[in-house]
Amino acid sequence: MTTMTDDRAEVFSRPAARFDGDGNIEVRASAALGCRRALWYAATGYEPTNPPSDDSLTAMEAGNALEPVVVRAMERAGWKVDAPDPRNPKQVAVSVGPNMLVTGHPDGTARLPLTGDEAPPQIFLFEGEPEMPAYGDPMVVEIKTRGPEAFKRWQTLGAERSHPAAVAQAAFYTLGEFGDLRETVIATMDTGNRTWDYERIPAERLDKALQDACAWLGELGAHHVKNGPDPDALPERDFSSSSWQCRSCPFLAVCLPGLAEEDGIDETTETEGKEVTDEEARDAVAAYAEAQESIREPEKAKRAALDTLKTWMRRQGDSKATVGDRTVTLVSSTRYSVNHRRLNEALDPETRAEIVTESESEYVRVS
Ligand code: SF4
Repeated sequence: MTTMTDDRAEVFSRPAARFDGDGNIEVRASAALGCRRALWYAATGYEPTNPPSDDSLTAMEAGNALEPVVVRAMERAGWKVDAPDPRNPKQVAVSVGPNMLVTGHPDGTARLPLTGDEAPPQIFLFEGEPEMPAYGDPMVVEIKTRGPEAFKRWQTLGAERSHPAAVAQAAFYTLGEFGDLRETVIATMDTGNRTWDYERIPAERLDKALQDACAWLGELGAHHVKNGPDPDALPERDFSSSSWQCRSCPFLAVCLPGLAEEDGIDETTETEGKEVTDEEARDAVAAYAEAQESIREPEKAKRAALDTLKTWMRRQGDSKATVGDRTVTLVSSTRYSVNHRRLNEALDPETRAEIVTESESEYVRVS
């Protein structure tokens, strides 16, 4: 989220890639880990066949509009943020090989207040001068907004695993802004719960993200050297038709015109071999709503009864009691939680992957 988007025309006035007048292919930092065929389509002037829907544009604009909210939240938490005027953002450019530039507009720089031993001693010229907080070195801040599930995934796995493109973007911005790599911070807002958090990524891990992104883009640069800006010389596809990258790709129809047939996607496999009609789905929603309604009152009564018993058991001082023909037990349990921010800062992504594992599951939510 580094550019302001005012309307649909502006979205397309900033292609993910283009050729500049000096023979370079210029790639937007936010697209650095994107599909190289899609970047080629953009650079060679193909018209998008699948432009973002109105809903996607609204979501994008909402994300942009929340950027100052995140900045203010950071400032309230003690950060000193230097964010550029969004009407006049600062552009940075980083060379990747002899014929490629990665460009973009950092969301700003931020400095964290130093505390305790970190803070240098302060010298005051005048007695009684108020103590000013001492801040650390400025670092690039990349601001993102995510829905609740993506936000949770980011907090749990860390940005390098959950959103590597954001880390690559921050790496390019850091190099473009400071001329060297140093720690960066990714601040993210959960748009559902309106909470925010941040992750600091140390310089050496940012360096790895940059190396990976340069290797990825380097192949596109080599393709450019070999073919020149030839719109018909398409790079290989980087993703398969079932990926989210293809499903949301603006060039989907030109790249994969026969999407379903090509990958052999059989829509009936989605229903696990059972045909479900629209009518049956409507009935299922109605049955679910009725069942929900019928358990609401009993659930409330159950909770109230348990609260009463908990208070009574605490006063008894016993963890077990017999009431009538039932045994009532006051169960104590210890909860353990992991500080994912500290974990993500302390360990590299490979070590984290051995500790925090993920698995996919599906469920249906009716709301
Ligand atoms: S449809 Fe998929 S493979 Fe084709 S350009 Fe888009 S992202 Fe790449």
